[in-house]
Amino acid sequence: MEVNQNNIEFIIHRGSHQIGGNCVELATRNARILIDCGLPLDYDEQDVETQNEIRENAQKWLQNCDAVFLSHYHADHYGLLNEAPQGTKVYVTKETAELMKISGMFGEDLTEYLDIHPIEDTVTVKDFRVTKFDVDHSAFGACAFLFEVCGKRILYSGDIRLHGKKGVLYKNLPQNVDFLFLEGTNLGRGVRQKTETAIENEFVKQFSSNPDSLHLVWCSSQNIDRIVALYRACVRTNRVLGVDPYAAYALELAHQNRESIPNKKSPSLEIYFPWSFTNWMIEKDRQLVLDLRRGAIKLDQTDLPVNPSKYVLLYRPKLIGDLSRYISKTKVCLTNSIWAQYWEQDKSEINRLKAWIEDKPELRQKLSDIHTSGHADVASLQKIVEHVQPKRIIPIHTEHSESFSTLFPKDTVLEVADEVCYSMDDPTIWKSTQSFEDLDLGFYMTHVIPDFEHIVITVFFKNPGVSPRIMLTNNTKWYEWTDERTVSITLSKTPVVIGGDESEIPAEAIEKAKEWVVLNYEVLMKHWDGETDSLTMLKNLKKI
Ligand SMILES: [Zn+2]
Repeated sequence: MEVNQNNIEFIIHRGSHQIGGNCVELATRNARILIDCGLPLDYDEQDVETQNEIRENAQKWLQNCDAVFLSHYHADHYGLLNEAPQGTKVYVTKETAELMKISGMFGEDLTEYLDIHPIEDTVTVKDFRVTKFDVDHSAFGACAFLFEVCGKRILYSGDIRLHGKKGVLYKNLPQNVDFLFLEGTNLGRGVRQKTETAIENEFVKQFSSNPDSLHLVWCSSQNIDRIVALYRACVRTNRVLGVDPYAAYALELAHQNRESIPNKKSPSLEIYFPWSFTNWMIEKDRQLVLDLRRGAIKLDQTDLPVNPSKYVLLYRPKLIGDLSRYISKTKVCLTNSIWAQYWEQDKSEINRLKAWIEDKPELRQKLSDIHTSGHADVASLQKIVEHVQPKRIIPIHTEHSESFSTLFPKDTVLEVADEVCYSMDDPTIWKSTQSFEDLDLGFYMTHVIPDFEHIVITVFFKNPGVSPRIMLTNNTKWYEWTDERTVSITLSKTPVVIGGDESEIPAEAIEKAKEWVVLNYEVLMKHWDGETDSLTMLKNLKKI
């Protein structure tokens, strides 16, 4: 897309109205970068055709981009990076780079063909000067990014929270930025989030009130804060925390950055080596397994059924097959320490785990949830905005972008749609990268002028830009509303009704709209030289 000199354009490819799957593009005349390239959370539930389409779109976005900035290593932010052309430059924090390395050993190795650059502080990519700011999130090494470009300062929050152990980091975020892309995962959920200390206390209660059981806790191996809370609860209840090699490795990395994080040398931590998983690992990287074993206490899995009250195991549904060889006759308490939606996913390993639980009603004491979100609650979002003082807020990673204006009445919220290209000089000017049918214009317009129940939109000229003429009706009166917005859509001579039931719109309004469209279509076609861009045309039109 051609960008005017000194202008910056942005597109949220995905994430303006959904949680996860983030991908944002920033472009100047000379450079184009992507921020995150995430897999939609419901990807696995889609049919093959939709999945292919998701991948093809990512390939298009990643093609010829100067760099990708990855905020953290969660699949809904990095999961489509494997669609990037070989050698694509990817900027991450040092911690994320390390996680990518170990994850490569356990699965797909992105570091093999991508050009990964850990950012210490600030980096320059063509027009963009980019600074990373560490933030608290449920992923190790998560960060926000500040983009300084063509005289504008743009802050991308990434996933962020204030109720974790490092919540105070938000105070380091830059202030008085022009734009803030702010995540809003917890909008609409209306709960104040518990702290990790409260979670630790809940674990203690859970282990103490079921003293003769073996406790299995499902939590992400990357959620270091949570593993620390779990470890502390184990120490307080005289139990040993057993972790698998992947979690052990993540802890080892985190321990190098912060000594207070337990590692294989900590007194109440042991590593268990699930049989098939370990064999698979040895095949991939024998040395890694040997390194992990050195100086570690190996958890004797045959002791699990003998002394269940001695252990808490950090596990993932994938490991249950291995574990059940030892614990199929042992009393267990299962605790989910993950986002509730993961438990509901239709994945084979989760279904297998559920079947395993169903099979053992006499052995299962409890299935409980002990969790707090990796994302800011409403009060925390307000604190972030109060600190950052942005000129404009752009909601992202949320199902409730419409709540932002209520939440930030004093701030200018710019609610945008996916796949629409906005100018940062004047975000009221936008172009669609999609066909008109795909563009959720009705939603956008209803939000801009919420008093109107119906919108009749008419469109009058084609590429390189089309300016929509919009007719609005509130059932009693009709209004014309023009705005210097540009959309690349196909020429239409008939009014299109969106944002309501056509049958409820007064016939008079529709007739008027048709009249208007035909009139202006003729006028425009007469004056359009076929090349002038739509904005210039609109300006000329005013003179006509
Ligand atoms: Zn995340």
